[in-house]
Amino acid sequence: VQPPPSALHAFRAAVGRVPDRTALAYFDGRLSYAETDALSDGIAAHLAGRGFRRGDRAAVMLQNTPHFVLAVLGVWKAGGVVVPVNPMYKSAEMRHILDDAEVTAVICADRIWDGFLRLLADGAPSVRIALTAWERDLQTRDDRRVLGGERLGPQEGADDLLTVARTTGPIRAVPADPRLTADDLALISYTSGTSGTPKGATNTHGNITYNAERQRTGLGLPDGATYFALAPLFHITGLVCELAACLANAGTLALAYRFEAGVVLDAFLEHRPAYTVGPSTAYMALMAHPEVTREHFASFTTLSSGGAPLPPALVESFRTGFGPYLHNGYGLTECTAPCASVPPGRRAPVDKVSGTLAVGVPGPDTVVRIIDEQGRDLPFGEPGEIAVRGPQVVPGYWRRPDATAQGMPDGELRTGDIGFMDAEGWLYVVDRKKDMINASGFKVWPREVEDVLYSHPAVREAAVVGVPDAYRGESVKAYVSLRPGSAPEPAELAAYCKERLAAYKYPREVEILAELPKTTSGKILRRELRHRA
Ligand code: ATP
Repeated sequence: VQPPPSALHAFRAAVGRVPDRTALAYFDGRLSYAETDALSDGIAAHLAGRGFRRGDRAAVMLQNTPHFVLAVLGVWKAGGVVVPVNPMYKSAEMRHILDDAEVTAVICADRIWDGFLRLLADGAPSVRIALTAWERDLQTRDDRRVLGGERLGPQEGADDLLTVARTTGPIRAVPADPRLTADDLALISYTSGTSGTPKGATNTHGNITYNAERQRTGLGLPDGATYFALAPLFHITGLVCELAACLANAGTLALAYRFEAGVVLDAFLEHRPAYTVGPSTAYMALMAHPEVTREHFASFTTLSSGGAPLPPALVESFRTGFGPYLHNGYGLTECTAPCASVPPGRRAPVDKVSGTLAVGVPGPDTVVRIIDEQGRDLPFGEPGEIAVRGPQVVPGYWRRPDATAQGMPDGELRTGDIGFMDAEGWLYVVDRKKDMINASGFKVWPREVEDVLYSHPAVREAAVVGVPDAYRGESVKAYVSLRPGSAPEPAELAAYCKERLAAYKYPREVEILAELPKTTSGKILRRELRHRA
């Protein structure tokens, strides 16, 4: 099936076909496809009326709220490019993105507007349009029902998003029908900058619809199914596998502000979703919640884990404890989310030697190679860098021909991940190239050690890093958090690993923490632990 040129085309088709179907569900609030269309028209008309033109960039800095979706649709309807920005970012991180992407419009939560005002006073010359969305203190369930902007007036220097959405438009009143094509830019997604200054990956509309369509056909969910946004929408996984895939299926997207295990579990019972995807750490948190039951997962046809390593022990304990099988998927920002996933009805095998769970098989039209430093193909089973070519790979980094030439020579993405392929075509991710630990000249991949730790019944989360060691160069150190009610000694955990791993791999030191540091998209931050050591 040929995907539509853009997710906006898919959305418009759904508006035409099922205008009264619920597009967005937020606690007790509901917006139909027709209402979502009218409100996003208002935003587009407002932007166009203020001189926002095709190809202009708008920063969207919101949590998982209906406002986020209205803002994205509004920007696309005005022909613009969305720059999703993590709402937890501090001034310096924001400033870099605003300047680098030459953002002309900012759409953000009211509670961060003051920070923006300071930034704007201090420069950021390109920003001309500002919209804020009422998101202040969404602490109680009652607050979270509010879909309107009534409770707070516009803030100094900005217009209120929902007021604008309701009172401006319709879009047909302004010359802003963008006629988007698959080659137009849809997003500039900034990397978190672990390897230098953050770079903007330029995801086209075609990149997004290819992955959304694959998701729609691959999952076999019925038309109009309910998707739950577990991953943040400002992250590529949420935006593509939840929002765009839901629109492609004329489905209902259920949202719950941001990840909080108890709130998410309630939302599962309230909205009865058929599908969701999140990092493995989100599933760990849900499983550790004191009130979790099998019933919370009873409505799901498929649950996917992506964007972070999935320990095989977690898949097993999830299946025995709650019923469903967790599907692995591998992707990255530059692949517009997934480039390999587990085909429907199949289960990913576990590699017998390393104990790693396969991440999936590459999608159709996607070519994954495992290569050595010179870019030559390596044989089956041999680890090397994962390189990807396919319709979901971005054409490059925003205004960075140097980084594009280096990171995607001839359009083939060098992922920076080490992996291998088996003879049946399953792809395994060993670890990130830059996270390799060099202990007395031996290569240790943190993932393998973490997988062993996860198989220990007391371990909730684990992260393994290399720490400086006068004798070995680097030595292996593990940080773990524990399940409630368990209290093993660190030495016991080290011994458990020693029994199961080659002598150079087991952690010489184990430290127990209450919580491991994570990114706001939920991934464990090994780099922070490295600095801590
Ligand atoms: P940045 O590149 O900005 O430092 P990041 O690498 O976390 O941040 P993303 O594009 O969000 O950026 O994450 C992609 C990475 O996540 C992959 O390169 C890979 O290392 C890891 N990853 C994704 N899915 C899986 C999976 N199923 N198993 C193991 N690792 C995974």
